[in-house]
Amino acid sequence: MSLIYNFSAGPATIPKDVIYQAQKELINWKNLGCSVMEISHRTKEFNTVAIEAEQNLRYLLNISNNYKILFCQGGARGQFSAIPMNLLGKYSKADYINSGYWSHSAFIESKKYCFSRNILIKKIKNNKISLLKYKKWDISDISDYIHYCPNETIDGLSIYEEPFFDNKIIVGDFSSFILSRSININKYGLIYAGAQKNIGPAGITIIIIRKDLLKNTLKICPSILDYNIISKYNSMFNTPPTFAWYLSGLVFKWIKKKGGIKKIEELNKKKSDLLYKTIDNSMFYINNIDQSNRSKMNVVFDLFDPKLNTKFLKEAKNFGLYALKGHSKVGGMRASIYNAMPLDGVKKLVKFMLFFEKKYG
Ligand SMILES: *Cc1c(COP(=O)(O)O)cnc(C)c1O
Repeated sequence: MSLIYNFSAGPATIPKDVIYQAQKELINWKNLGCSVMEISHRTKEFNTVAIEAEQNLRYLLNISNNYKILFCQGGARGQFSAIPMNLLGKYSKADYINSGYWSHSAFIESKKYCFSRNILIKKIKNNKISLLKYKKWDISDISDYIHYCPNETIDGLSIYEEPFFDNKIIVGDFSSFILSRSININKYGLIYAGAQKNIGPAGITIIIIRKDLLKNTLKICPSILDYNIISKYNSMFNTPPTFAWYLSGLVFKWIKKKGGIKKIEELNKKKSDLLYKTIDNSMFYINNIDQSNRSKMNVVFDLFDPKLNTKFLKEAKNFGLYALKGHSKVGGMRASIYNAMPLDGVKKLVKFMLFFEKKYG
């Protein structure tokens, strides 16, 4: 089997070491004579997996006991509904910061439950895309929370400032951002992430919520989306996605072994710098996003001549570089370079891009 580099946006590449480990212990996990998928979530063996995963995530993101970590199902989109049903309070209003596709989708879903405001922060000036600094966000005085998305997976846009407003609850969709850099969790009321971008396989969703926000939910809230209930049952009210939980736990250990979030952050900067430098130095590739808002996880770019797109993708694939096609909403190319993408993968992509430019430029 020849190894390929997989730039898929999600489900995305998982560290090879983790895949090998899972393969090695799949058939006879912990000497139980069966796989981790085939035992009850209530066994002491699985309980150890659950506890270790939580402890390691706490360690990696420096999460105090003031916060509860929940492992659930339903993906990030499930949270688009769960958040209003759990966090709406006396105003029944929420502010939604719109920076691209996913934050906009969260806003649309929230309208089923409350009066939400769609606050556009995307600017296009001289053909350059940027996002308004958070101090300029037009937030309202009366809202129960502010929702934003620090990494727009499809648009390739990021917000690196950590927004903070007095007496406001910040909620963040960290699906493609979590564990890519260090954060100050204390600035947030709640952050959530589907696992299939930067953690592990699809099927598990992580919620980190400040304990004082575990309160009464809307009556219509399904029990499986009710943070109080999930929390009370330590994420085992219904059967959790055990295999995804186990694999996410292996990924947390892998990050620890790599040197923790600081090291991962350095590496992510190195990878994205290399790719953006290649794009900026060429007359063949373009990315028109302002430096300060360029995503380090999802690097979008166009070929100056879009007629070459099909050729680019085909030749890249032959070169061992997979899934570089941009999202249909945006077109062009997208290289998702999450934590699990090694620097060598980005170097190989750069090599290919330079070669392709020479051939057709
Ligand atoms: C992928 C993604 C989603 C959707 O996740 P699902 O798990 O498919 O619901 C939402 N927000 C962001 C930022 C994403 O990258």
